[in-house]
Amino acid sequence: MSRGKQPSKAPKVRKAVLTHTIADFEPAFWPDEQPVDNAVVMTMGALHEGHAALIRAARKQVGADGRVAVTVFVNPLQFGEGEDLDRYPRTLAADVRLAEENGADVVFAPLPEEVYPNGTPQVRIAAGPMGERFEGATRPGHFDGMLMVVAKLLHITDPDFAFFGEKDAQQLAIVRRMVADLDFDVEVIGVPTIREEDGLALSSRNRFLSEQERTQALVLSKALLAGRDAAAQGPKAVREAASAVLDGADGITLDYLALIDPEDFVEAPDDFQGEAVLAVAAKVGSTRLIDNVHMIVR
Ligand code: AMP
Repeated sequence: MSRGKQPSKAPKVRKAVLTHTIADFEPAFWPDEQPVDNAVVMTMGALHEGHAALIRAARKQVGADGRVAVTVFVNPLQFGEGEDLDRYPRTLAADVRLAEENGADVVFAPLPEEVYPNGTPQVRIAAGPMGERFEGATRPGHFDGMLMVVAKLLHITDPDFAFFGEKDAQQLAIVRRMVADLDFDVEVIGVPTIREEDGLALSSRNRFLSEQERTQALVLSKALLAGRDAAAQGPKAVREAASAVLDGADGITLDYLALIDPEDFVEAPDDFQGEAVLAVAAKVGSTRLIDNVHMIVR
């Protein structure tokens, strides 16, 4: 009998496969017949620690033998005219490394022609009224375009679990609603927002901020935290505390600050009690940023 080595406790070193087509993705994601849990993390690339947290959560969920796919696709359908589709950062080689280091098996980075082979789709998914408020009011059609690609990527990747960040709270709520309303066979899991030490929520768009703008942007998370500190005094106090921080802040053009019932994404009335999301959207220079915090309002 061999005096046998103990099984190694070292984490499995993965090599993520990069695929650009559905035909290559399928055998890469399901290399054998064995049924294992699998998960998908959908991104637009320019990956950072926020995305890494989603990928690690996905890996943890499916276990060492499960399969994790990361999609990297800047979806033209969810960008409106005059938005930053053309300048959206594209860093695929670094994205593959980050995905791999955090537990991905496959990175699926298709071109628009692969996702929309017949050009602009005729049949659409509509987010409905939930997609017309807040982000949807400023970005008409954004959530319809987002749902279109999420639905397609769910069909292509066919996962047991799909991970989304709470950073995009309205997106997460609408995706959950689509999955429930259209009977998608997937469990949607939300992951808390990852921030810099000084509070700035990580975002692929932060790289567009000058040093001065980055400092000015800190007022957004400060306002949210001030609002959350007032949660025990009710919705009005939350709004007032957050507004007081934003009022007169330098370099910020506020789009909205709202206390929201996360179920259906409507403004929480003054007598609201329970779990709420305080969300903010603002332009800092020419860069539009969003952020939010969860709280229990009394
Ligand atoms: P994006 O590439 O910006 O479309 O984001 C892809 C996914 O990562 C979405 O589910 C986002 O909510 C999530 N995400 C982006 N930034 C963060 C962050 N700072 N913390 C946690 N999740 C994030």
